[in-house]
Amino acid sequence: MHKSNTKAGFVTIIGKPNAGKSTLLNSILGMKLSIVTPKPQTTRKKVLGIHNTENEQIIFLDTPGILKPKYEMQKSMMSYVNNSISDADILLVILDLGKYKSLDQYFDEIFLNYLKKSEKPKILAINKIDNFKDVKNVLPIIRDVSKLGIFNEIIPISALKNENIENLLKVLVKFLPDSEFYFDPDTLSIQNERFFVSELIRENVFKKYSQELPYSTEVHIAEFKEREKGKWYISAEIIVERKSQKIIIIGQKGEKLKSIGLKSREAIEEHLGKEIYLELFVKVRDNWRDNKNLLSSYGY
Ligand code: GDP
Ligand code: MG
Repeated sequence: MHKSNTKAGFVTIIGKPNAGKSTLLNSILGMKLSIVTPKPQTTRKKVLGIHNTENEQIIFLDTPGILKPKYEMQKSMMSYVNNSISDADILLVILDLGKYKSLDQYFDEIFLNYLKKSEKPKILAINKIDNFKDVKNVLPIIRDVSKLGIFNEIIPISALKNENIENLLKVLVKFLPDSEFYFDPDTLSIQNERFFVSELIRENVFKKYSQELPYSTEVHIAEFKEREKGKWYISAEIIVERKSQKIIIIGQKGEKLKSIGLKSREAIEEHLGKEIYLELFVKVRDNWRDNKNLLSSYGY
């Protein structure tokens, strides 16, 4: 029988909220697959992106940051993390250099428990080194985390500035199993366009409003009409938990909602390479984050 000379496998990216997991995935794939904002907990669902070379296929799973769940939606987010860990051939753990104070503080019990869920190889990427140029800042941390004895390799990177990413890929390939490819080599992702469109709108909602409001929102695509001629038609609902939030989302004379619509339309048109007509509606769904039926209808 002919022996495969290709390597392929699943790399699950995990870490605390805001460590730079989605930024890293986008930077490896050279395109925006996963939305990024300065707010923690932006990523809610599993996002898959595929890196192909001639003989290797790395399938990355981006996941929500690890936290102690406070409501149903976060429970569902953490179950994505669990599933993605069991699917993984390699765990790629991202550490945020700016948040690291000590070994015990960073690798708390919750975080360590997730890391112990898998026997598979674990690679630690120490991220955001662009903020801490001096190696004196990084070396003691490498020494510290080595003591845990759970990481096969430790690599400093900057996901944002694309530093040392090639090296990281080399290390991942080293641990990748011999296998046939799982996907066609020109596949980058497998989520449908509806998913990307709703995420791009959600990204703009996260950027536009301060504090807690974005966490009470969800974006649901109501209609998605592809047309042979003319603009595609997309209508989306921004779901909020209370009437008062609806008023804030819309803004005086609707100017906030208008601005989200404009920014989202530009982002969606760039993503789809098509002109679209976008309509946004704001809907109140009492406590949707704790309602199992609503959550499942929004894809959680
Ligand atoms: P996630 O929650 O782990 O997915 O983190 P994101 O990818 O959403 O990034 C959170 C924030 O950290 C964003 O504001 C990013 O721009 C920022 N960030 C990510 N990677 C880097 C990096 O390498 N350097 C710096 N300075 N900022 C970064
Ligand atoms: Mg993310």
